[in-house]
Amino acid sequence: MNTALRASTLRHAYVRFALALSPVPVVVWLVWRGQPLAAALLFCTVLTTMTIGTLVPRCALFGRMIKRLPQAGDQALLTIDDGPHPVHTPAILDILDRHRIKALFFLVGDRAAQHPELVRDILARGHEIGNHTQTHPAGTFWMLRPARLWREIAGCQETLAALCPGQPPRFFRPPAGHHNLVTSLIARSLGLRMMMWSARGFDGVLTDVPAITRRIALRLKPGAIVLIHEGTPVAVEVAEAVTSLLAASGLTCEPPASLAFRDDEVVVERRAAP
Ligand SMILES: [Zn+2]
Repeated sequence: MNTALRASTLRHAYVRFALALSPVPVVVWLVWRGQPLAAALLFCTVLTTMTIGTLVPRCALFGRMIKRLPQAGDQALLTIDDGPHPVHTPAILDILDRHRIKALFFLVGDRAAQHPELVRDILARGHEIGNHTQTHPAGTFWMLRPARLWREIAGCQETLAALCPGQPPRFFRPPAGHHNLVTSLIARSLGLRMMMWSARGFDGVLTDVPAITRRIALRLKPGAIVLIHEGTPVAVEVAEAVTSLLAASGLTCEPPASLAFRDDEVVVERRAAP
């Protein structure tokens, strides 16, 4: 990966961190001036803002992100995280084919390198792949320093681009959706747009498939970005239930490649009239 791009991106990232820490001297100064309440108020405000911006996945405080498809008509987008998986991916691909649904698979670089044939199969069957980091450090991703964040995102991009020349990922999704002050900055410098979701059933932690499906159904509307996972005990059952739900909803899930950017939004390119 371009070392000059890496250096300039990390420089910007550290400047952003320094700016975020700039209230700290003010807090110290307020304490020194004998104004502990004002200092505590300022400290809590900054801490709360940082915590919400980091740990609330769909909070765009630290950078723009895609949360739904604007101007989507009757479109929805199914996204599937955490693959490829040697058992689940082939089964889910068959389910998608049966329902004529195209999806966006957010893949983990290390897992893709172990199963390159699955990555190629995903693309060959008309789906798209996205960047979901190289090692998927779900519990710690939000607290990684910029250099490690770069390795995770750029490493996955390199892995996937090498496996599928000409079809590099266009979208990035952080593990668990947690992102810090500079995650979006690094993704954008690599040509990636951060994509979250608007409908999920917490299938990463729950195993009650009807309950998972009901949660998604409640949020399923035109423009929805649906999130499900591979690698869970109920991955295939959830995929079957959610694709059935999508097929019955009247919404269409066309090839993600038909989604094009306008500024930071994903828009659906209108087909020419027959
Ligand atoms: Zn994930």
